[in-house]
Order: sequence, then C-alpha cells, then structure tokens
Amino acid sequence: TKVVIVGAVGGGATVASQIRRYDKECTIDIFEKNGYVAFSNCGMPYVVGGVVEDREEIIPDPEDFSKKYDVRLHLHHEVIDIQRDSKAVIVKNNTTTFEIPYDTLILSPGGHAVLPDIPGSTLPHCFRLRTIEQMDHILQYIKENTPISAVIVGGGAIGVEMAEALQLLQIETTIIERNKHVMSRLDPFISEGLAKDLESKGISIITEDEVIEVTEDNQVATKHNGNLQADMVLFSIGIQPNTDLAKKANLTIGETSGIKVNNVGLTSDPSIYALGDAVEVIHTVTNQPFRVPLAWPAHRQAFVIANNIAGNNIAYSGSQATNIVKGFDYVVASTGATSSQLKEANIHFGRIEHESKQHAGYYPGAHPIRIVVFFDKATMKILGAQVGGTTGVDKRIDVLSAFILLGGTVDQLAQLEIAYAPPSLLQKIH
Ligand code: FAD
Repeated sequence: TKVVIVGAVGGGATVASQIRRYDKECTIDIFEKNGYVAFSNCGMPYVVGGVVEDREEIIPDPEDFSKKYDVRLHLHHEVIDIQRDSKAVIVKNNTTTFEIPYDTLILSPGGHAVLPDIPGSTLPHCFRLRTIEQMDHILQYIKENTPISAVIVGGGAIGVEMAEALQLLQIETTIIERNKHVMSRLDPFISEGLAKDLESKGISIITEDEVIEVTEDNQVATKHNGNLQADMVLFSIGIQPNTDLAKKANLTIGETSGIKVNNVGLTSDPSIYALGDAVEVIHTVTNQPFRVPLAWPAHRQAFVIANNIAGNNIAYSGSQATNIVKGFDYVVASTGATSSQLKEANIHFGRIEHESKQHAGYYPGAHPIRIVVFFDKATMKILGAQVGGTTGVDKRIDVLSAFILLGGTVDQLAQLEIAYAPPSLLQKIH
C-alpha cells in the first residue's frame, strides 16, 4: 500500500511512526512544505528565551527520522492539490511540480498563527511563532538588533510563554490582551495568580485593549492606552486551521472551520484521513464540535488513524482539551469544559472554588494552589476543572482529567485517596 502524508510535524510525523509500528511493508511518503521534521513546536519559546540553549535539541535530524521509521521524507515539498478521482496528490518543490499516487492520504497541515489586519502588521519587526523558520527569524532579529522593548499581542498560552522568554533576554515586555484577563478562557480565580506572577517579574499587562497600528519607528498604537514603544511585536492572537487544500478538494469543512472527520479520523472521502490543528473534533463534555490545537490530541488521533489503517477497530471519542501553561513561577491548567463552553451548550452547571497550600503549610516551599470545578447540577458529574499554582498543578489537573473521562462526581472527588507526605516535591531546602 501507498500511504502519503501531508505535513511532517505534530500529527504527520506521529502518524507515520505509528503506521510503521503496525505495517512494515507499506510505503510512506511525507511531504512537508517547510524545512523541518517532527520538531517540538512546544519547545520553541524555551529556545527563544535561552532556557534550551541549543536549537538542535528540538529539531530531529531528517535522515535519522527517515531511517528510524523507514519513510521517504520530502522537505520543502508542498502538496498543492488532491486529485480524488485518480487518487493522487500534486506536489511542488523549488524546481518542479509532479504527481504522486496514494492508496491512503493523511492530512496534517496544522494551522497558522493569525495576523491581524491592521496597518504595519507585516513590518520586519513584527513576528509570529509557529514554525522553526519563524523562530529563527525572531532569534536572528534579536541578535542583530538587540531590542529593548517588545509588545506581545494576545495573552494566551503562546503569548504568556513568549513573555517569559523575552523578559529572560532583558527585553521589557508588555502583553496587550483584548479580553478582561490573560488566559481569557480560564476562570479569573485561576488566571489572576498567573497575571500577578508575570507582573511581579516585570511584564506589563494591558487588558481590554487592542493594537490598532504598528509603525516603522517602533511604536504600537492601542485603542485605549495611547502609544507604546515596541522594538519588536509578536502576534499571538490565535490559530486558524490550514484548510485550503481540503477545501480545494471539496472535503467537508465543519462549522468551526476545521476539516470534518469521523470518529476514526476519516474525512468525507473514505481514502483520506485528517488530524491535528486542522480538524474539528467533538468536545467529550459538551458534545459540541470544536478545534483543539494541542499536541496530545494530535498524537492520540495519530494512534487511532494508524490503528484503523492496520484494521484495528479503535475509535476517537473526542477531546476534553486538557492543557497546562507556565509563565515564570506560576502554572495554570484546565481540563474539560470552560464556563463559556458550558453556557453555549446550555448545560446547567455549578461552580466550586477552593484555595489551600499545595503541601503541608509548615513544610518549606508551601504555596497557595487554587482549584475551580464545574459540575452538572443534576448529576453532580464533574464537567470541567482548572488549577493554578506554583507546583502540584499537573498532579491535580491530571487527576481531574481522569475523573471527567470516567464520569466521576464531586462527591467521589471528596472520597479520593491521594498520596500524601508533608513535602510534595523534590526540592533542595538547604
Ligand atoms: P503542525 O505541527 O504545525 O504541522 C503541520 C505541518 O504541515 C507544518 O509543518 C506545515 O508546514 C505543513 N504543511 C501545511 N500545509 C502543507 C502542504 N500543503 N504541503 C506540505 N506541508 C504542509 N501543544 C501542547 O499540547 N502543549 C504545548 O505546550 C504547546 N506549545 C506550543 C507552543 C508553540 C509556540 C506552538 C506554535 C504550538 C504549541 N502547541 C502546544 C501546539 C502543538 O504544537 C500543535 O497542536 C501540534 O503541533 C499540531 O500538529 P499538526 O500536525 O496539526 O500541525
């Protein structure tokens, strides 16, 4: 069999490796329009900030990858068309355009960071962070221009991680967020601690405001707070799925603008699968379609698709969007539905908030940890949970994630028996 994959990073590289586990015979051709395979998008802010010193740490060697999984990897090759009738893709590289047949086609083209339609957003000191090329562009600009100020437009996960990165490089950083608080999808009780921590580290946060223009003389104009100096500007205002290829091929696009797939990852064409940031999936709590631009769901979808190609009947039930983000010394995480998703789905829910110390108060290093839980008022089932604190956030959120998956109730949560000792972490006290 001939398997062809579009996109060689989060979903594409993973699905290739999974398919090879089950099938040693098939040919696998991966086409990637950029120059890197299987790199860690998630690691890029840490390379920019110098926490990961060597950029090669997050970039696997293409030859090693091809050998390990016995795949034909074609970097700098863009798939520009799908001929569904003859089952072939049209591929373009620097010099030529050619046709490659497939038995099974898998689309993992990802998404792109949105560029706002405002004057100056494409000036040379304006950046986005999605690809290694864009990361290198940022690194090169910083090296050559030694910026002393930066504005980050958008206070979501990437905005927060990049604020830390730029501040570590001694660049005075301001986050401008349109909503009432950074990490706006989270409950304010949770995001508040993160905002305070960022501010205590010198990050300025402007909320309920928008950037309306970027100028050549390194100024950023805002709607309500006048002009700010910004030697560099990073736009991190969201991800849009890359669906051009799918649309051109007349594959069905879902209501949230991602490629529509069924519970085994098949698109509206029975020979074409799709996964990752480009697809629309079902939220397991609300049953509503949504997009989940996160690595874990992409990996799970890759596993499901590879199994189905191998004839193993495994379904993908959807995602509950479990995620975690760190800014300096504060971590926020969420799983399940947010309050706005529950409202949109017309689910009648209650909310509990709680603050305590993450380990025994008398033991050094005790810090407040906050938890919010949303639950169904009729069944008492946990529908969503969010945690914010310095340490121990991952432990709580993963327990709550399992609870939601297994349909646990708030009363059962009270019965949970957890591992306890005064210290909760390995830390050097003396
Ligand atoms: P990608 O990994 O983006 O891969 C898509 C690839 O397809 C791209 O390389 C693109 O060039 C290629 N492509 C597109 N169209 C074509 C075409 N026509 N022909 C050939 N190639 C094509 N997720 C987490 O869960 N935790 C994190 O901490 C986290 N941090 C992140 C930090 C940053 C800065 C970024 C940008 C993302 C982060 N993510 C994180 C999200 C995660 O990286 C994505 O969800 C994941 O990479 C999605 O995989 P994908 O295959 O859909 O897209």
